[in-house]
Amino acid sequence: MKKIRIEGIDIDLVRKGIKNIHLTVYPPDGRVRLAVPRHMDDEEARNFALTKLTWIIKQKKKYTTGETEAAKVYKTGESHYYLGEKYILEVIEKKGKDHLELRDEQYMDLYVRPGNTIKKREKIMSEWYRQKLKEIIPSYIEKWEKIIGVKVNEFGIKKMKTRWGTCNTRDKRIWINLELAKKAPRCLEYIIVHEMVHLLERHHNKAFKDYMSEFLPEWKSIKNELNGISLHK
Ligand SMILES: [Zn+2]
Repeated sequence: MKKIRIEGIDIDLVRKGIKNIHLTVYPPDGRVRLAVPRHMDDEEARNFALTKLTWIIKQKKKYTTGETEAAKVYKTGESHYYLGEKYILEVIEKKGKDHLELRDEQYMDLYVRPGNTIKKREKIMSEWYRQKLKEIIPSYIEKWEKIIGVKVNEFGIKKMKTRWGTCNTRDKRIWINLELAKKAPRCLEYIIVHEMVHLLERHHNKAFKDYMSEFLPEWKSIKNELNGISLHK
């Protein structure tokens, strides 16, 4: 594989039979990969990467400072996200019921019984995120049912490794990834819209994309925000 270097950052450059440029920063070590169409030369690829330098640095930092899910230890001082906002975790050991409270728009107070394990803390937080999504999602579904003209019978929330959401078109049931509770509300809404549009069109074909552009014109930029950058040349 070819490597290019900009501003001290090594980038794996891959040429493929693709139309768009895909720039991705991978966990856990922040490896950067730039996939470009075959006809694009090194200079052009380098120039593109340069325009995305701030984004690359920001993504790399996220991984190298250990602010990834796998590295979390649920200790006081750790950063956690809710609806795209950053909160500082404050672990408070206390007898009684475990729970979580937001405070002053910057702290997440996690009340746990003394001697609580990391696993247990993670579980309390997951349940909190799940509960929050359960409260938030219905209003989005209601809003978009009117706009798209479809009916969702049921929604569920689950942890998924590779997808932000899924849709069972037969049962009209959508599943939303629990991780979306940590992302900006527009990301959550975009995934809900995406899954609901599947009730009109099952496949990611042109008709599907046309629906997305009709209902949510900015869907591509939100998708990029969630999955990295992929731009039309
Ligand atoms: Zn889909």
